[in-house]
Amino acid sequence: MQATEQTQNLQKADEKYLWHAMRGAAPTPTNLIITKAEGAWVTDIDGNTYLDGMSGLWCVNVGYGRKELARAAFEQLEEMPYFPLTQSHVPAIKLAEKLNEWLGDDYVIFFSNSGSEANETAFKIARQYHQQKGDHGRYKFISRYRAYHGNSMGALAATGQAQRKYKYEPLGQGFLHVAPPDTYRNPDDVHTLASADEIDRVMTWELSQTVAGVIMEPIITGGGILMPPDGYMAKVKEICENHGALLICDEVICGFGRTGQPFGFMNYGVKPDIITMAKGITSAYLPLSATAVRREIYEAYIGSEDYDRFRHVNTFGGNPAACALALKNLEIMENEKLIERSKELGERLLYELEDVKEHPNVGDVRGKGLLIGIELVEDKQTKEPAAIEKVNKVINACKEKCLIIGKNGDTVAGYNNILQLAPPLSITEEDFTFIVKTIKECLSQL
Ligand code: PLP
Repeated sequence: MQATEQTQNLQKADEKYLWHAMRGAAPTPTNLIITKAEGAWVTDIDGNTYLDGMSGLWCVNVGYGRKELARAAFEQLEEMPYFPLTQSHVPAIKLAEKLNEWLGDDYVIFFSNSGSEANETAFKIARQYHQQKGDHGRYKFISRYRAYHGNSMGALAATGQAQRKYKYEPLGQGFLHVAPPDTYRNPDDVHTLASADEIDRVMTWELSQTVAGVIMEPIITGGGILMPPDGYMAKVKEICENHGALLICDEVICGFGRTGQPFGFMNYGVKPDIITMAKGITSAYLPLSATAVRREIYEAYIGSEDYDRFRHVNTFGGNPAACALALKNLEIMENEKLIERSKELGERLLYELEDVKEHPNVGDVRGKGLLIGIELVEDKQTKEPAAIEKVNKVINACKEKCLIIGKNGDTVAGYNNILQLAPPLSITEEDFTFIVKTIKECLSQL
């Protein structure tokens, strides 16, 4: 469609004044300028519509256009727009209580604004917790290659994607990485759980008494939808317990129904010590994140010295309007049974996409709930990752047909070959059919 003059002016201003995420100064493809959104669909300034198969950045879990979310925020802003959580306010109290219901256990909640901050908070809590207990040597964290944990200096240090760190180092110290589980490339791991054993070995080699914790997403998302063997997470938890380290679970993407459970770890029968969450907590309508901490850890922060407190504050964390909106967001998920729907639609999607595995370039189709990865390869025997041109070809073909899907491109050395799909959990039957049909058509063009 020919861009109107208004669109062209906005595009020029966009290029001139906005520094976009993950972009440099070189000319880049024209951005979609989105002006409206409803359900799973977004509309650009020229009236073109797209099904957002990535829920923005894996975050608009209840879909776009929920007026009740806007109303919840508006009413709270009118009533009482802000008060810091050095004191308290009703929406934060109610949300902390509600999150406990979702977590199904006894956790104390610290609110921040983004996933990165939630993880930074977790690292500080974990380090100080050990100190509070007199265990002064523990400062190291183990995470996995290919995982993303955020953009700030600690969360980026925990990230296992070298391309995201290059030219920003040195980052926070004390972060170590091990290979992630990947049941497509290492199917034997399902029986041996060797990828978990590696964490055990690294803890021993590093000296257990220096390790503060392990951070992991239940399923590595941005790094390629890497499915762990079923027993992996439970084994890692056991290893952490044996070595006196804490298990921090990054639920920033996997939480709030994305994997067909309230939280991703619930697929694997473990209870993490610390759980970080963001994105789906408000379906991204407003910024909010949380770090949930087992009560026993919280209770270690009792002492007589000033330094026994958790000396950590952020101005905006737990903003009343964001908390009120989050409560409404969780109510929508409960009323519309969106977690169950994510589970069911995810299973159906894997079933419907079963036949694309016959395509010579499709190595694997995998996922849980509405979190799906399609791994493209050059050769099914060797599993050589497909060239980025092939990956882009499918993505562009989908966009031509008005479906936005993602890729783990440019950030994971050697493995930029996985297509990603994470639509809103509220997609309709028509949306579902459209996604399946479009993906199949676009893959067949390879
Ligand atoms: N953790 C995971 C697993 C993420 O995917 C992200 C962001 O995509 C983050 C943490 C960081 O969240 P934010 O971008 O809100 O800082």
